[in-house]
Formats: sequence, C-alpha cells, structure tokens
Amino acid sequence: MRRHRVFVRNLKAGTVALLGAEAHHLAQVLRVGPGDPVRAFDGAGLEAEGEVVAVDPVRVELRLEPPHPSDAEPSWSLTLAVGLLKGDKLSDVIRHGTELGVVRFIPFVSRRGDVPTLSPNKLARWRRVAQEAAKQSGRSVVPDVTDATPLKDLDPATLGADLGLVADPRADATLRDHLAVHTPADGASLCCLTGPEGGFTDEEIVMLRDKGFRSVFLGGRILRAETAPVALAAALLVPEGR
Ligand code: SAH
Repeated sequence: MRRHRVFVRNLKAGTVALLGAEAHHLAQVLRVGPGDPVRAFDGAGLEAEGEVVAVDPVRVELRLEPPHPSDAEPSWSLTLAVGLLKGDKLSDVIRHGTELGVVRFIPFVSRRGDVPTLSPNKLARWRRVAQEAAKQSGRSVVPDVTDATPLKDLDPATLGADLGLVADPRADATLRDHLAVHTPADGASLCCLTGPEGGFTDEEIVMLRDKGFRSVFLGGRILRAETAPVALAAALLVPEGR
C-alpha cells in the first residue's frame, strides 16, 4: 500500500492528532483507515514513518517512529529571487522550482517589472503551491516564499549566500565558468536572480554587481521570465543527482 505523506509541525515520535485540512484530506479524500502506513514530514527537513491509529471525520490520529533527516534534499541550498510577473505565472515557477529542490523564493519589485505589489491572497496561494509541490515531490522541506521586496534590498551577504548570481542576457560568463571558480560546498547557500519580462536596467545590473552578484549568461536565446529561473534551478540542482 502507498505510504501517504502527511505534513506534521513539531514532528516527534509517539502519537499525534491531526485536525483541519490535513485531517480532512487524509480522512475524506484519501480515506485512510487504522493500520495504513504514512510518512510524516515537518517542512523543515525531518521525516518520520508511522501509521494511522484512529480516524473520525475531523480528526486523524497517527503513531510515529522517531524522526530522521530526509535524504530528499540537495546538499546545498538554492534561493531563487524572481521579478514579480503579471497574472499567476510565478505559481509555475514555485511549483517547478520546489520539485527541483529550491529552498526559498523571493519575489522582487524592480524598475521594468509591471507589477508593483503582491496581494496577500496571491502570497498565501503561492505558499500553498510550495507546500503541495513539496509533498508531491517527496520533499520534507517546504520552501519559504517571502513577501515581495524591492530589488535594491537584495544583497548576497544579507541573504546569507556564499554565491549570488544574476541572470542577464548581456553577461559574458556562463554558469559553468562561475561554478568552476565557486563550486558550492556541502551546506553552502546560493542565490540566483532573474528579471521580469522587461529584464534589468543597466543601472540595476551595476548596482547588483556592486553588491557582489555575478552576471551569468544562459545561452544565445532569450528565455521568458518564468522559464529562466526554472532553467537555472535545473542546471544547478539536477547534476547534483541528489
Ligand atoms: N528583454 C529583456 C529580456 C528579459 S527575459 C532583456 O534584454 O534583459 C527575463 C529575464 O530572464 C532576464 O531579466 C534574465 O534574468 C533572464 N534571461 C532570459 N534569457 C536569458 C539569457 N539568455 N541569459 C541570461 N539571462 C536570461
């Protein structure tokens, strides 16, 4: 039988009672019963095997084994900072980036972006998308989706990044060039910026480079604003093989 994945905050061994959406999903949608195996994850990198012990329509009780670190996470962490886009295009970036192993998404507002603000509803939806995609892809980390920030506030040091990259079609260096010099060590943190449909202005590129971001060229084709971050995440994380 398939082991259902369940999100449990404050994961620990023993019995835990689930209420609300997670209980509803297990009881009403997946129709679990006593004895069914589950794998709980805490959204922060731990998981635990367990089983269902009791079910009623609004409450599901589980018994869990001791939690252990998940092996579904990359060995270093990738943050994607992405220009706010019209409509709901960032939903797909968040879904695909989460499947690939991104740990944090930072939507930003910049000069050529045509969306000046992020509504609380959209942010809440994106956080649900990240949680769903994490669950579906077998991750035990739910990526953080931060509130929108002005581009000028992004800085590799304050983001805790060992390497900051900004994707720019005018750049000379490729990803391989950068990684040859700055190979991410286990536990390292990388932050990649990709622009909105209108791209970055020359002044923004100068400002970002002054802060320590390095420009990266993604090939002779112009990628759409929602393609570039996913391509970068894939190029960085897939060769890791873990
Ligand atoms: N007309 C814009 C293109 C914007 S594409 C310009 O000239 O900049 C949206 C974003 O995707 C860009 O800001 C950049 O971050 C990224 N991007 C798309 N294609 C790229 C490429 N070939 N190399 C590097 N970055 C690219």
